[in-house]
Amino acid sequence: MREVRPPIQRMNAIFLDRDGVINRNLDNDYVKSWDEFEFIPNSLEAIKCLTDAGYPLIVITNQACINKGLVLPQTLDWIHQEMLSEIEHAGGYIQAIYHCPHRDEDQCDCRKPKPGMLIQASHEHHIDLPNSYLIGDSMRDIEAGKRIGCRTFLVLTGNGSKAHQQQIEAPASRKNIQPKRIFADLYAAALWILSHDTQGQ
Ligand SMILES: [Mg+2]
Ligand SMILES: [Zn+2]
Repeated sequence: MREVRPPIQRMNAIFLDRDGVINRNLDNDYVKSWDEFEFIPNSLEAIKCLTDAGYPLIVITNQACINKGLVLPQTLDWIHQEMLSEIEHAGGYIQAIYHCPHRDEDQCDCRKPKPGMLIQASHEHHIDLPNSYLIGDSMRDIEAGKRIGCRTFLVLTGNGSKAHQQQIEAPASRKNIQPKRIFADLYAAALWILSHDTQGQ
């Protein structure tokens, strides 16, 4: 008898940028230790609400500080372990973290606005991209999300206000890279998703 396999369930995921979305950006510097990591107000609550609603949450972060030699890979891992334990303590859950250690000049396929990390995550976690969300605070995030066809939300925390202003002033040739929606912060974006998304209905 032929084995019948159930179809793979494709999930609506939420991709989160890290710096400027979950935690505060440092002015012209990288987060180099757990001491320098500070959650943006209500970001933990936002992650908890989205977790409770059943969304797989995946962090997608550029960390050129690694290849610039400013942060050791094991330090980045430690920062992420601490971040995950705080998130879980607050009732949230992050399914996976993907980071790109490269600089622009390394010409990798993963540094946003390239979509490499998003493509890899979508394969490894069976994600339904057109029905997924990407939440970021820079146009690099928005562009990466657009390239793979997910819904892109810009938040005005971190570099978001500056990115938004630059987008308003951008030449027409750059105007096509627009976030689908703009929110004050991750919490506001989460509330919108919880009241408007039709996952599971
Ligand atoms: Mg960011
Ligand atoms: Zn890379």
